[in-house]
Amino acid sequence: MCVVCDQRMLGRRDVLGLAGMGLVAGATGLFSQPAMASGNTTSVTADQALEKLKAGNARYVSNPQLCVADLTNNRATVAKGQAPWASFVSCADSRVPPELLFGGVGLGELFVSRNAGNMVDTATMGTLEYGAEHLGVPLIVVLGHERCGAVAAAVEVFKTGAKLPGSIGPMVKPIVPAVKAISKKEGDMVDNAVRENARRTAEKIKTQSPIIAHLIKAGKVKVVAARYDLDDGKVEFFA
Ligand SMILES: [Zn+2]
Repeated sequence: MCVVCDQRMLGRRDVLGLAGMGLVAGATGLFSQPAMASGNTTSVTADQALEKLKAGNARYVSNPQLCVADLTNNRATVAKGQAPWASFVSCADSRVPPELLFGGVGLGELFVSRNAGNMVDTATMGTLEYGAEHLGVPLIVVLGHERCGAVAAAVEVFKTGAKLPGSIGPMVKPIVPAVKAISKKEGDMVDNAVRENARRTAEKIKTQSPIIAHLIKAGKVKVVAARYDLDDGKVEFFA
């Protein structure tokens, strides 16, 4: 986590609250001694992970220049093991790196899969299952974003039947049903499709992975969809 941000913005009340959740390891500061060195999984719950992401995004929006992770110390801390507390399926778009959008999250905290259009194929599903089942990651976030090129391409395919070259056509094809579903909806078609696509990806993760469905039922994992706004930097989590 962003050391500078935390030192400047974390009040005593917050520290006490986080200590109560088992997130403060000793007197050296927040997240400075995560559990990964001993091979343990995170003690952060899905709801706590979601609150951490919301607070981190608020820091990024208000003071992005302060959100720089202390990677030198961070690297040494996590070198022998990882205990990430959130998994992401996000777009490959160069403007949407989850580690930066949530307040300068450090090494060892997020378990991230990225591809154009934030979709779930076998490799991504297996990655999420490994994260949830083996690494104990409590929260999975599907993060779409404003003006996504992959979604815009799917809108073009839906509207005109355009044939896209190489593997781009087959890659975009799974987004087309989301476009079709919102095609009669008021508003911007690409943005509506971005939201629908993220929701559908989240639903697919919940329903098509027996491992994750089991962990959801046991109260150990939550899956949420969200949209990142390229203009104002805000992440909107869908209910
Ligand atoms: Zn995109």
